[in-house]
Amino acid sequence: MGLSHKISADSCGTGNYHIGQNAHPLTLATLKKNGINLSHAARQLVKEDFQTYQYLIAMDQSNEQDMKLIASPAEHSKILLMRTFDLERDSLDVPDPYFGADSGTTRAKAYGTTAADAPLKRMDIQRRNVTERDVEIEILYCGICHSDLHTAKNEWGNSLYPVVPGHEIVGKVKQVGSKVTAFKAGDIAAVGCMVDSCRTCHPCKEGMEQFCKSFPTFTYNSPDKHIGEQTFGGYSESIVVDEHFVLRVPTNLNLAAVAPLLCAGITTYSPLKRWNVGAGKKVGIVGIGGLGHVAIKLAKAMGAYVVVFTTSKSKVKDANELGANEVVISTDEPAMSSYANSLDFILDTVSATHNINSYLNLLKLDGTFVMVGAPEHPLSLAAFSIIFPRRILTGSLIGGIPETQEMLNFCAKHNITADIELIDIQEINKAYERLVKNDVHYRFVIDMSSLKKET
Ligand SMILES: [Zn+2]
Ligand SMILES: [Zn+2]
Repeated sequence: MGLSHKISADSCGTGNYHIGQNAHPLTLATLKKNGINLSHAARQLVKEDFQTYQYLIAMDQSNEQDMKLIASPAEHSKILLMRTFDLERDSLDVPDPYFGADSGTTRAKAYGTTAADAPLKRMDIQRRNVTERDVEIEILYCGICHSDLHTAKNEWGNSLYPVVPGHEIVGKVKQVGSKVTAFKAGDIAAVGCMVDSCRTCHPCKEGMEQFCKSFPTFTYNSPDKHIGEQTFGGYSESIVVDEHFVLRVPTNLNLAAVAPLLCAGITTYSPLKRWNVGAGKKVGIVGIGGLGHVAIKLAKAMGAYVVVFTTSKSKVKDANELGANEVVISTDEPAMSSYANSLDFILDTVSATHNINSYLNLLKLDGTFVMVGAPEHPLSLAAFSIIFPRRILTGSLIGGIPETQEMLNFCAKHNITADIELIDIQEINKAYERLVKNDVHYRFVIDMSSLKKET
């Protein structure tokens, strides 16, 4: 009995924790009801907190008597209170010894949401105090990525609440830890989609932290190794990040318009670079949104001949202005077939369901089709789209830290930033509504000074 067969943690304790879905329903319900997420609870076990382990077993068996014996009276009554009155954990202003330590943290203003169907609102979060290798950044700008919305609304089914989104962060260094060498107070710095990884596995050592075998710690909604909550993103006044995951920002660029490069920029730069897009290459970019509009600029700057595919006639002018050599309306079949077997490479940025076969058919022998959009439903693939003439269908995920720095330097050299609409944090829910309708040119960026006005 108990949870021993139901709770597991990965062997190196680097980030993957599970309480099996077959744990006692009351345990799951109680933890969830009280906003205690399962990975937090399981993580306590990795810290070899045997008392917590016993407490969870007692909870699993709904044994109030055992729970009382194991926890101190104050701790026990707090948990009981939460169970009885369905209170949110955060509303109890007492230390939380089991599910997130309060020591060594500082309160920070943020915007986030407590449920999938709740709007984003002003909330306080904890940031860890700077340790020796940390950089504390005052956030100046934060881009709004579609992943922010998916996570806030739990559309991928894995959201840990409260959710504070934001992984396109640009700011000013406030202070650094004693062993930090690459940054000093006053520097302009950036943080993208990741804030940590194991640093020891093969992908990490090769600078591909996004493929860390133990899973990278993402900037938001990942278990926080330091303070036991999930990580909180950039819709906040500040963030504390290990220097390895902090990027240098070239200061010749507009800082607000740099923010989207931290996700949209690296997501498109990495595959363009990996598959040697450059002079003499004919490259297709599918979709002109947050990712696509940056991809056009990057491919052009790399020297490629750029063909842009869009469903929308209204975007033809924009595509030309962004640097497209040619623009094709993808619903125009004769126009599409005139490009058959002519492209070296296609970057597909579309995240809605669409027919990839009609694009695969445009590739030459050994041409490569890379997906960076993530449609919700599986797409259908006609085998002959890749069999003849031996085309390659693959995908790509953001980029590693060294490559992200390389991308920022490339953008500085070629004067590339995103096209943005700058908003105040108070407009966030309206911006989300517009984002759902793809009504943005082409990325929202939050001016985080707007958060300062709020108490
Ligand atoms: Zn993103
Ligand atoms: Zn790793």
